[in-house]
Amino acid sequence: MAYDNQNIFAKILREEIPCIKVYEDELTLAFMDIMPQADGHTLVIPKVEAETLFELPATHYEACFTTMQKVGNALKKAFSTEGIMMFQLSGSDAGQTVPHLHFHLVPTSIHTLRTRKHAAEMADQAVLQGFAERIIAALD
Ligand code: AMP
Repeated sequence: MAYDNQNIFAKILREEIPCIKVYEDELTLAFMDIMPQADGHTLVIPKVEAETLFELPATHYEACFTTMQKVGNALKKAFSTEGIMMFQLSGSDAGQTVPHLHFHLVPTSIHTLRTRKHAAEMADQAVLQGFAERIIAALD
């Protein structure tokens, strides 16, 4: 399917709508999920028109994984957990709701596993901003 450049993450990349950013480099952007499944739920997206993992150019693989590792390490420190649940829904059949490739990073622990429903409830922006500041402070 043709990439829809009016999707919400494309608009975030063009800075037409805001996001709560935690990290950015030439090829990727990481920001807070507005309907988090756990405190600290962060999304990593490539700065390229790719709806799913299957359209991601190989030249962007490393940048995505490097940013996931960097942000994941910060989440471990900021939320005092060794557990980061990572997932990526490719295609609406899999439940993907935003048609721009994104990787979910959710700090969690098997001992306190109480993740909330997917994309269900808006979080308070000030609370998300506070989490973002904790994550940014924990970035290497
Ligand atoms: P998926 O269902 O895998 O496509 O995930 C889309 C994710 O994007 C969900 O977890 C939503 O909560 C999140 N989301 C939707 N709109 C925004 C937005 N404007 N800023 C940040 N996260 C968003």
